[in-house]
Amino acid sequence: QTPFIFFCRPGFESDCAAEVQAIANAHELAGYANAQTDAGYVRFYLFDDASSEAFFDLLDLSDIIFARQWFWAKAELEELPLEDRITPILDVCADVAMAKSLLVEHLDSDEGRELSKFCKKFSTPLTIALEKQGLVHDDSEFRLHTLFLATDHCVLGYSPAERSSELKGGILRLKAPKNAPSRSSLKLDEAIQVLMSNRQQRDAFRLGNTGVDLGAAPGGWTFQLVERGLQVSAIDNGPMDKKLMATEHVEHYQENAFTWLPEKPVNVLVCDMVEKPSLVANLMAEWLEGGHTQHAIFNLKLPMKKRFQEVADCIGLVCDRLEDAEKSYFWQAKHLYHDREEITVYFRLKSKVAQNHS
Ligand code: SAM
Repeated sequence: QTPFIFFCRPGFESDCAAEVQAIANAHELAGYANAQTDAGYVRFYLFDDASSEAFFDLLDLSDIIFARQWFWAKAELEELPLEDRITPILDVCADVAMAKSLLVEHLDSDEGRELSKFCKKFSTPLTIALEKQGLVHDDSEFRLHTLFLATDHCVLGYSPAERSSELKGGILRLKAPKNAPSRSSLKLDEAIQVLMSNRQQRDAFRLGNTGVDLGAAPGGWTFQLVERGLQVSAIDNGPMDKKLMATEHVEHYQENAFTWLPEKPVNVLVCDMVEKPSLVANLMAEWLEGGHTQHAIFNLKLPMKKRFQEVADCIGLVCDRLEDAEKSYFWQAKHLYHDREEITVYFRLKSKVAQNHS
């Protein structure tokens, strides 16, 4: 069987493998993972065609926390002739489905990043060649992936365009805004763009809406909320960035984020505290259960070994508490490009009206 390929942050291969294994198990599909530490990807093998087809049909990148991108490999080409890599690739593609688009990708590992320039350069001639052969079609629901492991070695396969990332390697590259008080500002920017739909963003960031940032100093996350039009309460004993405070869109409370609550419900809660993940999860559950916020975005710091298990336990804890409170909710979580030893989680309470629409 040809493997499924999952891209992840180098060092998180075993977490990604454990998660993919859990997805297969949950659907009673037997398979096994093969992952080398720091390789930046995982290969997952199922035992027969029917299981592979079923796995392909059910996988959705938005359900996988530790993977940034995925595809089903159809061929692995080694020792590609450097003077013409395109012909052997076209030969394989002709046997595979037509694609809507093509991604020429590399991994986020040390070796992988060295291939970045080559991949960029190779993308246009390969796309033109595929188009000439009539292998690219707008109506196709598939995305073609060519993952280069070396300049003469690539894994070729496809994914359903709706359930994988349109970004190379699944990485959303963002530029640090000039006035942001800290680089971690990028984490919240990415979280909002990756985890919230346009509709959810519109709902959360209506002009005049309010937000709370628990553990806010120096204000990188608060900055993102202010940029999106919110009036923010920033809770932290530490000092906030002066320029940010001068915007007059921030109220700074030097209090304990584990006990502070707003007088009136807010629209958006964010939390980036270096704390035990279960404590943060319980705090978020308390805010959502109590209806103190409708949207919550928070980080779970993961210095421990079995990171996938910890994440599953913490998200399970929030879900259990919301179900006990008979709250209807949506959640999504991701190990984002700008996250290191942490993942980012988004929860949204569904209002009665919204439930009919989403
Ligand atoms: N998101 C911030 C940014 O982008 O600038 C960085 C937050 S930093 C990683 C964590 C902050 O949480 C620290 O400033 C720390 O003072 C604060 N913090 C930790 N425990 C806290 C608590 N119990 N109450 C209030 N703030 C707390």
